[in-house]
Amino acid sequence: MIIRQGFKFRLDASPGQDARLRVLVGHARFVWNQALARCNDAYQAENQRVPRYEIMAKWITAWKREPETEWLKEAYTDNLQQKLKDLDAAWQRCFDPKLQAQRPRFKKKGRDRDSIRFVNFAKYCQLDGRRVKLPSKLGWIKFRQSRPIVGTIKNCTVSWEAGHWHISFQTEREVSAPVHPKPASWIGIDLGIVRFATLSDGTFTAPLDSFKQHQQALAKAQQQMSRKVKFSSNWYKAKARVQRLQRRIANVRRDYLHKTSTRISQNHAMVVIEDLQVTNMSASAKGTLDTPGRNVRQKSGLNRSILDQGWFEFRRQLEYKAGWAGGEVLAVPAHHTSQTCPACAHVSRDNRLSQAQFACTDCGYQNNADVVGALNILARGIKTCAKGGTSPGSPVSA
Ligand SMILES: [Zn+2]
Repeated sequence: MIIRQGFKFRLDASPGQDARLRVLVGHARFVWNQALARCNDAYQAENQRVPRYEIMAKWITAWKREPETEWLKEAYTDNLQQKLKDLDAAWQRCFDPKLQAQRPRFKKKGRDRDSIRFVNFAKYCQLDGRRVKLPSKLGWIKFRQSRPIVGTIKNCTVSWEAGHWHISFQTEREVSAPVHPKPASWIGIDLGIVRFATLSDGTFTAPLDSFKQHQQALAKAQQQMSRKVKFSSNWYKAKARVQRLQRRIANVRRDYLHKTSTRISQNHAMVVIEDLQVTNMSASAKGTLDTPGRNVRQKSGLNRSILDQGWFEFRRQLEYKAGWAGGEVLAVPAHHTSQTCPACAHVSRDNRLSQAQFACTDCGYQNNADVVGALNILARGIKTCAKGGTSPGSPVSA
């Protein structure tokens, strides 16, 4: 099978390269907006049909000949073509009945993420240690490589985000269908806030302390920004600070999720998780005075939407990494996983002594409540597989 992966780093452009990159992303943005305007006209006039890429690509040649837009000759044609391919793809997502994406919109300098893609890397670009050579008068640019790049680089994207240039290398590599090194190892995972992930073997990963610190710093920075006169130079400074913090939080979280999902998918062939829905999670997090939601402990001043995203991103990572390792991820219904006794199957709200402690009122079994949750999730996974008769290996009970 072919594995495609992206590797993103900070780019250290010289002042000259910075200026050239600004021109190139400007050209790309211009072409996107011009082509989109024409597509919008066609959409109105031709009963919601828009030109496909093959037609749009010819517009570039025409624009280069027209006196008002002949400065486009300075542009790097590959970048422009890729922009139009992106626009074509955006329209197709919009017309796809399953996706029903929003219509593509105009790109505004400063508001939207600016980016350009360099294709045919082997032919037009070059990599030498922590330097990359890009075409169109850019030359060698240093980047801050924080992890090895695996696979053959097919193309790369340069983007301007949160006040810095970044480069993302898209790679491909062929691997034979993997066989998981530990086929008999099954694990259940309970997701929470006090403990981000509790495993049915009793281990857990704590959430990041620094995450909370960053969150507080962000709240403070956002408050400071709101006090400045909009569009004043101090407001822009405050805004840059907010964006820097948001970026740092995103990086820290991504790193944390990657480390956790890698470790779990490499150590366990079958990973059983709760099939959580965003709406369910929010509802259960709120709870009421009489029946506190099972995630009520989570309202620790942390941004809920960030946590929701964290859980979904975690599941996404687990799924593709399990695929790479030859393992599998199974999602099971989540009801009563925190109130069921793993020893005697007795279900009662009273089994839950406190948020952290579980003690069965029937048989006396005791354990950490999150571990109990993970054990029940694992048991449900095993049951599901036994029913379906698709057990990939014999499970080892935790
Ligand atoms: Zn019991």
